[in-house]
Amino acid sequence: MSKSYQAIVVGAGPAGSSAALTMARAGLEVALVERGTFPGEKNMFGGVLHRLPALEEVFPDFWDRAPLERHIVKKGVTFMTGDSSFSTLIEAGNFDRTPYNGYTVFRPRFDRWLADEAVKAGATLITSATVEDVVTRGGRVAGVSILDRGELAAPVVVAADGVLSFTALKAGLRRPTFDPAQMAVGIKALIDMPREVIDDRFGLVRDQGYAGEFVGCTGGVRGGGFLYTNYDSLSIGLVFHLASLRVSGKTPYDLLNEFLEQPQVAKLVRGGRLQEYSAHLIPEGGFDMIPELVGDGILVTGDAAALCNATGVNLEGINLATQSGVLAGQAVIAAQQAGDFSRKGLEEYRRLMNDSYVIKDLKLYRKAPHMLHNDRIYNEYPELITSVMEQIYSIDGAPKESLSKLFLKTAREKVGLANILSDAFGAWRAV
Ligand SMILES: Cc1cc2nc3c(=O)[nH]c(=O)nc-3n(C[C@H](O)[C@H](O)[C@H](O)COP(=O)(O)OP(=O)(O)OC[C@H]3O[C@@H](n4cnc5c(N)ncnc54)[C@H](O)[C@@H]3O)c2cc1C
Repeated sequence: MSKSYQAIVVGAGPAGSSAALTMARAGLEVALVERGTFPGEKNMFGGVLHRLPALEEVFPDFWDRAPLERHIVKKGVTFMTGDSSFSTLIEAGNFDRTPYNGYTVFRPRFDRWLADEAVKAGATLITSATVEDVVTRGGRVAGVSILDRGELAAPVVVAADGVLSFTALKAGLRRPTFDPAQMAVGIKALIDMPREVIDDRFGLVRDQGYAGEFVGCTGGVRGGGFLYTNYDSLSIGLVFHLASLRVSGKTPYDLLNEFLEQPQVAKLVRGGRLQEYSAHLIPEGGFDMIPELVGDGILVTGDAAALCNATGVNLEGINLATQSGVLAGQAVIAAQQAGDFSRKGLEEYRRLMNDSYVIKDLKLYRKAPHMLHNDRIYNEYPELITSVMEQIYSIDGAPKESLSKLFLKTAREKVGLANILSDAFGAWRAV
């Protein structure tokens, strides 16, 4: 195989298909190269697609057109310790109206749909094709080589091949190794459950969905849990900081099973049937993890550029991936018009990114990843919160204490006042 295109996109995930769609709609001859037998074949994530402004511009009827599951109307956080828990819940009328605030989706269906839209716009999708290297000419990226299938040529390549991006690595835009402190690993179970049971259990009607996060459920390892409702299944899992998981010597699979057996979780999944497990890496280092975004003849997007925002409340990845993919596409179109695919000619991408919510948010939450490396968040604080709430709600005939006294006494006992002050200061600076 040896063919020339005006642009090559490596990886038909959300970032790559968004880039290919943008360029194809502008009339460029684009190759979208994907290692799976179809886009999304092996792609997984927790399950909540946050709003995708860049795609909503292309598809104003996005929520009718895309293969989505439920739209999220309820979001909650549960702090757990032993057999006690305390939950918060926000249910907003605005989340129940278009444009919806988020949806659950299945990646094999969503990624395939988005890639199909790129194909409808004119992109050429090449599947079962693993890019193993970039081709360079005169010191500039000028194409890619595909395992056992030869080379493709183009004056510009968009690397959208996910967290381990070999394309960015081979082009010299990222370091060969990762810092485990900047990486997380997620494990997810898909549990089949009849739609009516899900509606009753989570208090949902029509296509409404629930997205819950859990803190204090990871056996002391830094991380958290999630549970999202699909039409007739639950996506449930854990995300761990890689460095902390390694030190613990525990396996994600064992920790997930322990999580599923905790009483507060067991009753939510009761009666369900386990369908499958999957696991994947997440670049969680935030702004400080972003590699070079632009090189001579190459741009880096999505997870390949570590564009994930893990603030501790939401895990935003796909929205950042699609936004960066669209902006990369726009930068290529501008470079095509100027006839300049050098690093300088592609600098428009960096400018567009710096102006976008992607870089602005990652910069704003730059300190969040460091803050989340505090073990007390996963152990002592859930204990403090559940203990304070349990005491507030206990009526046992003993004289009551003032709330401030009760809090101070429990805080001293569970966390230590100096720790609370320094953590509060750290959290304030981080968010
Ligand atoms: C457990 C877990 C939970 C998550 N939860 C959420 C969530 O709830 N919400 C959210 O927004 N984000 C979430 N994320 C993050 C989100 O999944 C990613 O940020 C997003 O998938 C990044 O999109 P991408 O297109 O950059 O990369 P990917 O989705 O990784 O797509 C990369 C594509 O490139 C292909 N590819 C890779 N290498 C090659 C190669 N050499 N040649 C050809 N093709 C190649 C892959 O097959 C894949 O199709 C979660 C991630 C995990 C792991």
